[in-house]
Amino acid sequence: MAIKITDECINCGACEPECPNNAIYDAAYEWRFSDGTALSGLIDFGNGQVVNADEQHEALSDEVYYIVPDKCTECTGFHDEPQCQAVCPVDCCVDDEDVRESKEELLAKKAWLHNE
Ligand code: SF4
Ligand code: SF4
Repeated sequence: MAIKITDECINCGACEPECPNNAIYDAAYEWRFSDGTALSGLIDFGNGQVVNADEQHEALSDEVYYIVPDKCTECTGFHDEPQCQAVCPVDCCVDDEDVRESKEELLAKKAWLHNE
């Protein structure tokens, strides 16, 4: 599963630079697939959805830092544990029960994000 940030976030910013996939964004900032990844051009998800990697997407939170589930790999392939969880001073980076992925799926997502 991906990690999500709860409303307990105090907006300290400690987690953002630790993410190997640039999946963490400050409140109200728009996000892009191409930020901190190798994704470029048109991304075809194979389900009829095609997205430009440079397209800006609306922030998922206007109040606190947030994580883009499609870019979070639980740090699989980079670190032994989710780095946002490891550095968060208030333990508000928690498992997202709505986004469940296997280790293999997370590794495949990492390879996809970084064109490996
Ligand atoms: Fe980024 Fe890792 Fe946190 Fe996911 S678990 S948001 S990949 S630091
Ligand atoms: Fe919020 Fe924790 Fe990230 Fe700080 S480290 S911005 S409290 S989620």
